[in-house]
Formats: sequence, C-alpha cells, structure tokens
Amino acid sequence: MNRDELATLRAEVAQACRVAAARNLVDGMLGHISARIDEEHLLIRCRSDSDNGVAFTRPDDIRLIRFDGTPGIEGELDGYRVPNELPIHVETLLAHPEYRAVAHLHPPAVVSADLAGIAIEPLYGAFDIPGAWLARRGVPVYERAVLIRTAELGKEMVAAMAGRPVVICRGHGITSAAATVAQAVLQAISLDRLASMSLRVRSAGGTCKPIGESDWTDLPDLGPSFTEAAAWRHELARLEHR
Ligand SMILES: [Zn+2]
Repeated sequence: MNRDELATLRAEVAQACRVAAARNLVDGMLGHISARIDEEHLLIRCRSDSDNGVAFTRPDDIRLIRFDGTPGIEGELDGYRVPNELPIHVETLLAHPEYRAVAHLHPPAVVSADLAGIAIEPLYGAFDIPGAWLARRGVPVYERAVLIRTAELGKEMVAAMAGRPVVICRGHGITSAAATVAQAVLQAISLDRLASMSLRVRSAGGTCKPIGESDWTDLPDLGPSFTEAAAWRHELARLEHR
C-alpha cells in the first residue's frame, strides 16, 4: 500500500468513526475502528492530547501500527497512544483473515437491551432487511463486562463471537467485523436499530417475537455489495448536514 492509498484509508476510518458517533453508537472518548493493511499492520483510531472525542475524529488520529502495538513506520506513534483495547482488533483480525475492518463501539441501546434480558430477534423484516438477516443468523453475547486489554481476553471475546460478524459485550459495547470499514459500521447501525426497536416494543407493552417463517423467502438477502455503497453514501451525506 503506497502513501496515497494509506492516506485515503486513514480518511475513510476517520469518517467511519464520525458516522458511528453521529448514529449514537459511541459517546465521548471511547470506541475505535481499525482497518487491516496486511498480516502484520493495521490502521487504528488512536488517542492524543488534542483528542476531542470520537465524533471529531481527524484522519491524523488514525495511525499505522503493527499487530503488537508498536509503530508501523517510524514516528507513527509520536504524540499518539494506541487504545487499551487493541487486542479486540488484533485477535479478531488474526482469527478471521476474511475481515479487513473491526469496529468496537459502545451503543447504549444495544447494551441496555442486553442488560434487560432482551435477545436480538428478527422482529421485523422489510424495515431493515440486512438487519433482519443479521438477527436471524444470531447475535452472540460475550458475557464479561471487562476491559478487553489482553490477548487472552481478546481471544475469549473472539471465541464468544462464534464465527458471527458481531458480538455484544455485556455491560460494555459491541464488536463488529467485516470486509470493509463501511460494512463494519453499517452492521453496527443495524444491530443498534434492532435493539432500539426491541426496547420500544417492550416499552409499549409488547413482546419481541420473530417474524413468520414463511416471510423469509420474500426478504431477499442481497448482500453487502448491493446495499453497502448506497447506505454508506447516505451516512456520509448525513454527516455533512449536521
Ligand atoms: Zn470498549
């Protein structure tokens, strides 16, 4: 990857952080997104003394590091610190070569729905088809509320993910992994929408139950390549008009 490509990807990860904040998937300083460069390097949202929080992420906040947390090129971490929960990103990428991006976020709706004992169910269909399929295939829970700052805890979380692209970390947040940075965040938005709708249904006195089995044949799973580009354009446009 040359310097221009690297700069483009830094800007993309920074935008993804701002989209996540705009969608209330993170608040304040916590939460980070990464993109794999190769088998030993990744770009990740780092911290610095001029950091104003995830909603205000700049391309410069995205630093190139090695999987062991050291600078990817000389000077890359001058004035920047890698997040404590780097193992979330590294262990997910090591375990799954197919993933090129990882988003670790703290969406209040997902955390509160899980704490309320609500399992993520496909309670709607055409309202959000990718979200419905995400729920149908199952959203696992990592039951520990710890700060995932060691390789051991990272591996434990990846094991709880059980091959699914998203996992809820109880009393903590979520991890969403995908082939692209956009997809990792869009998936998180879908999960947040499922959790928010479940909370609303419960608050209105209803029960969250899955849609009818016969409906699935008419909910075509067109895959991320069909919906991702348009959905991401919308997210970026929303950012511009805030
Ligand atoms: Zn966290």
